[in-house]
Parts: sequence; C-alpha cells; structure tokens
Amino acid sequence: MDRITLGHGSGGRQMHKLIDSLFLKAFSNPILNQKRDSAVLNIGNKKIAFTTDSYVVDPIFFPGGDIGSLAIYGTVNDLSVCGARALYISVGAVIEEGLDGSVLERIVRSMAEAAKKAGVRIVTGDTKVVEKGSCDRIFINTSGIGEVYYEGLSTDKIAPGDSVIVSGPVGDHAISVLSKREGIEFGTIVRSDSAPLDKLIWKVLRSSKKVRFMRDPTRGGLATTLNEIALGAKSGIAIEERDVPVRPPVRQACELLGLDPLYLACEGRVIIIAAKEDGPRILKTLGADKAGRGAKIIGSVTGDRSARVYLNTIAGGKRIIDMLSGEQLPRIC
Ligand code: MG
Repeated sequence: MDRITLGHGSGGRQMHKLIDSLFLKAFSNPILNQKRDSAVLNIGNKKIAFTTDSYVVDPIFFPGGDIGSLAIYGTVNDLSVCGARALYISVGAVIEEGLDGSVLERIVRSMAEAAKKAGVRIVTGDTKVVEKGSCDRIFINTSGIGEVYYEGLSTDKIAPGDSVIVSGPVGDHAISVLSKREGIEFGTIVRSDSAPLDKLIWKVLRSSKKVRFMRDPTRGGLATTLNEIALGAKSGIAIEERDVPVRPPVRQACELLGLDPLYLACEGRVIIIAAKEDGPRILKTLGADKAGRGAKIIGSVTGDRSARVYLNTIAGGKRIIDMLSGEQLPRIC
C-alpha cells in the first residue's frame, strides 16, 4: 500500500480506492458494504441509523459557522439523508496543548446551540489533550444515532427518468472556509451553508413517497456525490450546467482561483433522486423552507448503464464529469 497523501482524505477517487481496498476488505459485512451515510441497523423491532464523522476544518471559525456546529450538523445530516430522525450524539475532542480556554468555550457553546437547534442530545463524550504540535488546535469526532422513519431509500430504487434535485446553491461552505483561511474576499463575504437538514428532509419525505435516494454533497462536492450515486444505481446521470445553482460570488471566486464549483463541498445541501412526477412537488416543498431556498431540478437519470455523470454545458457541449481526483482543498470539514 502506498504512503498516505492528502488526496486520500479528499472525499474523491483516491479516498474511495483506499476505503474499498483496505477498510471494506478488512471489515467487510453486508451493512458496511452498502457504503451509506449511516449504517441502518435492525435492533429489536426498530430500525436505527448510526453514523460517525471527524472534523478537522481549518480555520475553526469561518463566516456562517465553526468546527463545533459543523460537527453537530454534519452528523445530523448523515442520519437525515438515510430517512432517520437524529436523536443522540457523542462528542470526542482531541485538543492541542495551549489552546485558549475561551476558544474552547466558544466551540462548546456553539455545539450546545447546534444540538438544541437540531433537536439532538449530546449524551456521551471523550476529551484528550495532546502535546503542542501533535494536532492543530482542536479536532472533533461526533457519532450519532437516529430512528429510521422512512424506509427503503436506496440506490437500487433509482430508475431511468428520475429527477435529480439539489436543495440550494453549491459551494458556499468551501468558499467561505477558503476565503477565511487565505484572507481573500470576493467582493462580498460568502457565508457557509452549514445547517441541519433534518426538518427540510422530513418535509420532503412527507410530501413524496417516491424519493429513491438522498445524499449530502460534502467533500468532493456535487460531481463526486453524483458519481457515487451513478455507481450505486449502475445508471448514467445527466445534468444541465445552466440549472446548477451557484451564487455569483462563489462563481467569481472559482474563476479567480481556478476551482470548479461542481467539486466544492457543501454542508447544508442535499441531493435528492425522486420519480419525475414528484419533482415539482418536492421542489415546492424545498422552496417553502428557508433551508431549501434556491432548490433546482438539475438533471435526470438516463437509461444507459454506464454509471457515468454527464454535464450538458451552457455552450451546448456534453462532457463526462468524474469524481474529484487528487486534493482540491484539504481540511474543508
Ligand atoms: Mg454525508
């Protein structure tokens, strides 16, 4: 096995290769092998969703959020996209010696507020302190469990003609973190979209019984997540460049920095695959909620079995968009 690089943590192709060739091989079981955002478990006569995530974002405070709220919302969202109501969360903190106590207090307060907002309780935790230089200020791990209220979300359910919906503009989180880290401004301050998706998703799943699958496009962005969905469904996906919502300052930042908005991480957006006839209704449900403002139908599932993602460009061309390869922006979440 090769030496680990930042690319192995990008959320893109290299990370998938690492997971498939090492972790999945070593730990293989039918639940893990589904590679969902949460494991869906049968415990007694209940279906429980269980997930974990670690947060190493740099800087720890950025416009629209901080490492604390991000760690709560990220885990809530991974439960929500599996049709589960997030209930309980654990918090593990690895703190660097020398961290200012007031900084830690601010992060902890933010986590408490975020948990309240998302209706989850932090019920267990762990604290470790390492020598100066052994980590960067603070790293946080959160795990969460939730009760599954909507069953059957699966890439197996995806069928040709299904609509591909995104719940709002993409890339705000990545550009917010990047501009704060590098000290660049893009005309206006871009705020992260970091937010809990639990209520929005609950509304969507109540408004339609024909939602096939959902995933939040975090690391690797829209392009990588759509590739994961296409692979799972063994179906092609075609999206329209003109319909992908990107805020003007995000687009401007991308042009300036040579980034592609399709690969930028979101922390408060969800991609929904649903039957075409329910697309307009889902769009209406999303648009009626502040968290879903700017939602768009961006494409559809094609009939071919290529498992490729195609982009119909504004210029009238057609190109394949692949998973993120290499590392675009390390420590984005
Ligand atoms: Mg996720």
